[in-house]
Amino acid sequence: MSEKKSELAIIIPCYNEEAVIRYTVEVLINILNGLCEKGKISETSYLYLVDDGSKDGTWDAITELHEKYGSKVKGTKFIRNYGNQKALIAGLLDVRKIGCDCVISIDADLQQDENSIETFIDEFHNGSDIVSGIRNNRKTDTLFKKITAISFYKLMNILGVKIPLNHSDFRLVSRRGLDILSEYPEEGLFLRGFFHEIGLKTSYVRFDVKPRKLGKSKFNFFSLTSLALNGLTAFSIVPLRVIAVLGVLTMMGSLCLGIEVLYEKYCLNNIPNGYATIVILLAFFGGLQIFCLGIIGEYLGQIFNEVKNRPRYIKDKEIF
Ligand code: UDP
Ligand code: MG
Repeated sequence: MSEKKSELAIIIPCYNEEAVIRYTVEVLINILNGLCEKGKISETSYLYLVDDGSKDGTWDAITELHEKYGSKVKGTKFIRNYGNQKALIAGLLDVRKIGCDCVISIDADLQQDENSIETFIDEFHNGSDIVSGIRNNRKTDTLFKKITAISFYKLMNILGVKIPLNHSDFRLVSRRGLDILSEYPEEGLFLRGFFHEIGLKTSYVRFDVKPRKLGKSKFNFFSLTSLALNGLTAFSIVPLRVIAVLGVLTMMGSLCLGIEVLYEKYCLNNIPNGYATIVILLAFFGGLQIFCLGIIGEYLGQIFNEVKNRPRYIKDKEIF
């Protein structure tokens, strides 16, 4: 294995993580120092904290940590909460500008195993541009999150977005990956899909998920649904095709039904008192139409967001 000294940046999205951020930074600084001593990364490696518009003392903690560790702890703060994906994108694009050979993203609660970072770096030195962390299990997730997450990944795979099950945002990206990312202006970028799709050499590292040490999960039903819908519609047009197929099948079904009704009316002369049929059909087609409109609406929403071409986020503060 080569003993290159790469400059590593670790990005940490933080939203109201006052309770845990000091601990997390201490742990990660130790990891950086350890890797430095082993000669795997350069002395200039650093942490980059993206405060996603926290309302608690997260930014104060970041400033304090910056005072303590100097340029080893850098950070930026969004003017409001934009969500974890945008915090990650901001981190990736910022460290590309600040300078680094590779970057690893990890959650502020250190649920992902920070000791895998060394394996990530080894894989990077072995020539991988992307190293993706795969959870060994979902023991720490609630039953609801387990079911929805697994269904989401299965559905994504059926729809042609081949991202591995139990994928996470714990990932290493090389400078080359960052350069490619910087050329994608789309607003609703879904990073797990994106890094999988661009086709750079990728390796996978399995890790154990730990329970969150302090503080609460920042995701709720709505933010998870929004992430899932975004991921689906940003990467796959299969739902649009399914509508077309459903439309054709429905038309064929209606045609058969029409022929049958005409046959009964004119050949058998027994006009059925089709109350039930009408109600069922009305309900069925009403439902189907709304469902289809919903899917179209999803895509329209994507187009709407992209066409506006707004900045992804606005920054409030920065420390280097
Ligand atoms: N996070 C963020 N913005 C948000 C929600 C979450 O930057 O709007 C960060 C959060 O601080 C953490 C990471 O994203 O570092 C993952 O969040 P969390 O641990 O709450 O999610 P879970 O592990 O429950 O999926
Ligand atoms: Mg977590």
